[in-house]
Amino acid sequence: MGEDTDLTGDVVSDTHERHGSGTGGERAARRDEAVRAAVEQGLLGPGSPLVGLLDVTGIRESAARLRAAFEEVTAPGTPVLHAFAVKATPLVPVLRLLREEGLGAEVASPGELALARAAGLAPARTVLDSPAKTPAELREALALGIAVNADNPQELHRIDAMMRSAPSRSRLGIRVNPQVGGGSIEALSTATATSKFGVALRDEGARAWVVRAYAERPWLSRLHAHTGSQGIPLALMAEGVAETYRLAEEINRRIGRPQIDTIDIGGGLPVNFASDETAPTFAEYARVLKRTVPGLLDGRYGLVTEFGRSLLAEHGTVVARVEYAKSAGGRPVAVTHAGVQVATRTVYAPGAWPLRIAAYDGKGRRKEGPEVVQDVAGPACFAGDLLARGYPLPLLAQGDYAAALDTGAYYFAHHYAYNSLARPGIHGFVRDGAGGVVFATVREAQTVEEIVAESGGAHTDALTILDAPRRR
Ligand SMILES: *Cc1c(COP(=O)(O)O)cnc(C)c1O
Repeated sequence: MGEDTDLTGDVVSDTHERHGSGTGGERAARRDEAVRAAVEQGLLGPGSPLVGLLDVTGIRESAARLRAAFEEVTAPGTPVLHAFAVKATPLVPVLRLLREEGLGAEVASPGELALARAAGLAPARTVLDSPAKTPAELREALALGIAVNADNPQELHRIDAMMRSAPSRSRLGIRVNPQVGGGSIEALSTATATSKFGVALRDEGARAWVVRAYAERPWLSRLHAHTGSQGIPLALMAEGVAETYRLAEEINRRIGRPQIDTIDIGGGLPVNFASDETAPTFAEYARVLKRTVPGLLDGRYGLVTEFGRSLLAEHGTVVARVEYAKSAGGRPVAVTHAGVQVATRTVYAPGAWPLRIAAYDGKGRRKEGPEVVQDVAGPACFAGDLLARGYPLPLLAQGDYAAALDTGAYYFAHHYAYNSLARPGIHGFVRDGAGGVVFATVREAQTVEEIVAESGGAHTDALTILDAPRRR
């Protein structure tokens, strides 16, 4: 890990890059304006105590930075498809916004594929990865011309049969696990020796199998690896990509022609949850790739990327009203409406997923005052439902708002139905150019009628009726 430390040092010295010319500060300013406007416009209030907000300007900026970062390091004319990992923020309007910004989509389930299609993403700009694709899913993807990365030999054999019966325009590849090791979060480390994803490249006979698989299938033209998400150091991510590139080179050499013409390097750029500074940046990662795997970027290969969290996380804020402010055992506790249902990872694994909390007063203005160590609790009925514990903030009072920052990916769009708590509404926002903020509904808040319907409301008597014949 010595090299990793060096890389971090390198990153830290690059102050212009770190602060992105002050865009972190701009983003924070837009966020404060949006919270205030949400209160003023009634999106947030006593009757609507929880919302998700998405910074449209910020999302566009991140997409532009991603494109620019790879344009800077690739040979002119290199085809690069940035396929947004839909699982990070599975919302149709977000996918449409990213489509407008030139991005495609990486999907991993029938639901995600349907979202991408609803957003109008072209099949050729959609990539299907998932470790458990059914024959029906594979058939649909091949019929539509969606790119597919086969996870394992059994899946490849299914694709073989389908390719024999009906030719497809789909770009096809195999996902490999370069087994370069894990990061700080075990659950998100996909390149460990025993990861469930892809063909484990260093296992006995695996590399030879992959080489043969390509030699026997002229239609296999891509190679895919995704080394992990949040918690993976840049150097390890680059090592996973380098390992994949070396395999592509070996395969093309053995076959005697550039059959693999595109390498899918996955996503996984970590997000800084500790401040408003974007770190690491797409530009830094692209430069690390340039240094570690120059051959990948010299124009012989097209590229696919699959970033999720790094595109959306910092552009989302979940804001919750403080319903009650109390004290227990000498510690102030703000009981809010945001807990395990919108911040599941943080509540269940607070050590791995700490969130920053910002305090706003009842009018949505940033709260001033001395910091007081307090707990910010959610509404769910278990003691561990805390957004933050022992957190220093201006003392939250009844009617104030607590905002969980950087929650635009894998948080409020990933509702967890504990206590039948409703999915909050999500609103996108932009400055209106006249000192105000305008909002657009991205997703309506779930109603209690919908909760009943989704909880078997149409089958009230299903179980009592089932019981009757036995009682008779
Ligand atoms: C989750 C996932 C991604 C996106 O990861 P991020 O950390 O959100 O960038 C990309 N590719 C695959 C195959 C994934 O499973």
